[in-house]
Amino acid sequence: MKKGIHPTYYSSAKITCACGQVFTVGSTMKEIHVEICSNCHPFYTGKQKLVDTARRVERYQKRLEKMIKKPKQNDKKSKKKSED
Ligand SMILES: [Zn+2]
Repeated sequence: MKKGIHPTYYSSAKITCACGQVFTVGSTMKEIHVEICSNCHPFYTGKQKLVDTARRVERYQKRLEKMIKKPKQNDKKSKKKSED
């Protein structure tokens, strides 16, 4: 390898997942923190899991709950916009 152009290679970099899984890989970063890994990703687990970093799912579910509680507030006839 040419000298001076390659970053330090850590052959046992520590990867820490939000689910608690820790494993080692080769990387140029010594430690990496990830939100999801092969241990907890729904593709591998087969379970439903919401990967919700921006809390969008939570917000949607709240909105949905509201709509279920009072469904006919937003008729076409009443042109008032509902406050959010
Ligand atoms: Zn994980």
